[in-house]
Amino acid sequence: MAQLDGDSDRINIAIDGPAGAGKSTVARLVAGQLGYVYIDTGAMYRAVTFSAQRLSISAEQHEPLSQLMQSIRIELEPGERGQSVFVNGEDVTDKIRSREVTVQVSYFAASGVVRSVLSRMQRDLAVRKGVVMDGRDIGTHVLPNAELKIFLTASVRDRALRRFNELGDNAAITLDQLESEIAERDRLDEGREISPLIRATDAIELDSSGMTIEEVVSSIVQLSRTKLAEAK
Ligand code: C5P
Repeated sequence: MAQLDGDSDRINIAIDGPAGAGKSTVARLVAGQLGYVYIDTGAMYRAVTFSAQRLSISAEQHEPLSQLMQSIRIELEPGERGQSVFVNGEDVTDKIRSREVTVQVSYFAASGVVRSVLSRMQRDLAVRKGVVMDGRDIGTHVLPNAELKIFLTASVRDRALRRFNELGDNAAITLDQLESEIAERDRLDEGREISPLIRATDAIELDSSGMTIEEVVSSIVQLSRTKLAEAK
């Protein structure tokens, strides 16, 4: 049974899963209900990708990428629509959601230097517990001792449809294109050598296909209460 450190009465919650499964919405709402801090690690990979693109550094250029990772300062702050993201003081919240970043991010996320620096930052953010962190390798690699691990899935079609509806009238992409981009991102994230997207053996798998966001959130909040009671 997991033991909590010191006098902490909070746990860490890892939410992993493929693109578009609803992780960030769910993680943010779970954190809100528990009074925990929400950390979107995908935003950190996106921030690195955006910064590298601006400097014309490709994912294969190890040396310049290492230099970038030594100097980059990424800050996450709670914002109205989730989380605001700052790189070296600049607000990049909207810029990191561009299509250019989205189609490239998995290549940068396969880089060892990028992963080791970001994993370290993510662990530092979770030392005091009370964190809901979403990503791809949180339960397996970043927080292997997280008291609660969720692996959130949904069919590719469902995930594409969800993203498509989110984009609304601004969708400059068809549903089929979106579905194939998501499938490609899954392929890269599951196939990379370092910390691939995989369900941790002790993670609870939730298929959100037939569930509302509220149902997913309330089942995770319920599970977290059970884990907290167990860990005490
Ligand atoms: O969560 P989001 O879809 O914004 O993540 C963008 C990309 O960042 C993912 O497709 C994946 O390549 C990478 N990522 C990762 N490890 C994480 C979080 C995100 O490799 N913990």
